[in-house]
This record gives sequence, structure tokens and C-alpha cells, in this order.
Amino acid sequence: MLESNQNTEHHATVIAVANHKGGVGKTTTAASVGTILASRGKSVLLVDLDAQANLTCSLMPQEDVKDSIYDALTASDSGELPIYHLGENLDIVPATLQLAQADLELSSVMARETLLRELLEAQAREVYDFIIIDCPPSLGLMTLNAATATDYVIIPLVAEVLPFVGLTMINNFLSMVKKKLNPHLDILGILITRYERTNLSKQIEEGLRSELGNLVFETRIRKNITLAQAPLEKSGIVSYDARSNGAADYNSLVDEILGRIK
Ligand code: ATP
Ligand code: MG
Repeated sequence: MLESNQNTEHHATVIAVANHKGGVGKTTTAASVGTILASRGKSVLLVDLDAQANLTCSLMPQEDVKDSIYDALTASDSGELPIYHLGENLDIVPATLQLAQADLELSSVMARETLLRELLEAQAREVYDFIIIDCPPSLGLMTLNAATATDYVIIPLVAEVLPFVGLTMINNFLSMVKKKLNPHLDILGILITRYERTNLSKQIEEGLRSELGNLVFETRIRKNITLAQAPLEKSGIVSYDARSNGAADYNSLVDEILGRIK
């Protein structure tokens, strides 16, 4: 049996956080899961694929960003991932507003769906335990690159309006990517975020669970103002306020994630 070096070798698990619907907690989830995994001793690379650059801005000063994911994706030869160190076990490939041009600029580039996958395989997969990708609120080229590069997708949603139409859309998108570009792709789970104890959200949650079973994470992320405040301090939820409901909920999500990917 070839078992040598098992402990020193890394082969990152890649998780993309995606939903074309805006404001459902994608960035908060990417930042919280990433910072919690790092605090538990896992080496983590965050990748910001959204031109809004919310993930980047929530963890580092925007003015410190020189090169961004845009430069790596649009480099004419093989690009280099610009990796910035955020703290112990935690790095980021940041985004800037410039990324908004990428969809158009790459529209005639060959194999443009696999640009991120190739960058991660060449420069990050063997370095980190986890790579967490934050997607923009669309099913455009960036989310396509994320879905092509990733092992797992987490789909956050808010249990406010009926979520099934949107879920069908992203599910069809991911099925197509799985069929054509990334046979390893799996949905890790659907995550209910900004949860409030109202009759409506209870009904929607019950509907989701009866329809989709354990595809829905048991953990719900409660509505918690601390989660909205942490980014203002460029801080992950646990170092900002370890005793908040936000920290408790995302810690329990991370437990569930680690259980699911074993
Ligand atoms: P976009 O589609 O624009 O990228 P998103 O899906 O990444 O949005 P977030 O930016 O994570 O969503 O969250 C939207 C807003 O809601 C942010 O201001 C965030 O701080 C806040 N928020 C996220 N989760 C919670 C929560 N559980 N409780 C309270 N506020 C939250
Ligand atoms: Mg976001």
C-alpha cells in the first residue's frame, strides 16, 4: 500500500457558495465558514468571484488590493493567482470592481469556463485544505467557472418567498455543469439563512425539508445583526463576537459540513 506522506499532502476540498438570487447570505456564509475552518486549524483559501467585492472588503482594506482575480483570469498566458495573507491559516484571492468586465472580455476566449479550475489546480489545490469560492448573484461566467472548479456547492436561501422556482433554476444550471464540465460536482446542501421564527418561514422550511430531505442543512442561520456588523471591522464572525448567535450557527454549520464531506 502506498501510504507515505499522507499527512503532509494537501488536496483541497473546494466549496462554492452560489445562488443567482441576491442578498441571501452567500458572502456572509463564505466568510464565516472560511474563517471558522481557519480557526480550527485548517488551511483555507477564500476566492472572491464577485465584482461587488463584498467578501474582499469584509476581510481586508480594499486599497491594499493590487492584483485581483480579474488579472489572473484575463492573463493572456497562464495567469498567477494573487494570494493575500489575512491571518493564521487564512488567505484570499480578492476581487475588485474590474471583475465586472471579465464576462465580456472573456467572451471569445477558448475554454473560458475552466479558467478558474486550471488556476486552482496549478496553484492552490495542493496547498490548502479548503478553498471557498464566493459567487456573484447571477448564473453568468463567474458562477460557471466556480461550478466547474468546485467539488461542492452550498446554496443559501432566505425562507421568505417561495424559493422553489429559484432552486429549480440553479439546480438545472448545476446539473448541466455536472453533465458537461464537472462530473464531480455535488450539492453539499441548501442553507436557510436570515431565519426568523414566523409562520411563513416555518411553513417554507417545512416545505423545503419535506421536498428535499437532508439536502437541506439541519443548521439554520438565524437573523443576527452581529453577522452584518462583523464585516465593518474586517473580521470573521467568531473573532468579532464568539458568543453571538451568528457564531454559534455558523459553527454548527461547519460541523455539519465536515460531517458531510468525510
Ligand atoms: P449578493 O447577492 O449581493 O452577493 P449575498 O448573497 O452575498 O448578497 P450577503 O452579502 O452575505 O448576501 O448578505 C446580505 C446582507 O444581509 C448583508 O448586509 C449581510 O451582512 C446581511 N446578512 C447576511 N446574513 C445575515 C444574518 N443571518 N442575519 C442578519 N444579517 C445578515
Ligand atoms: Mg455576496
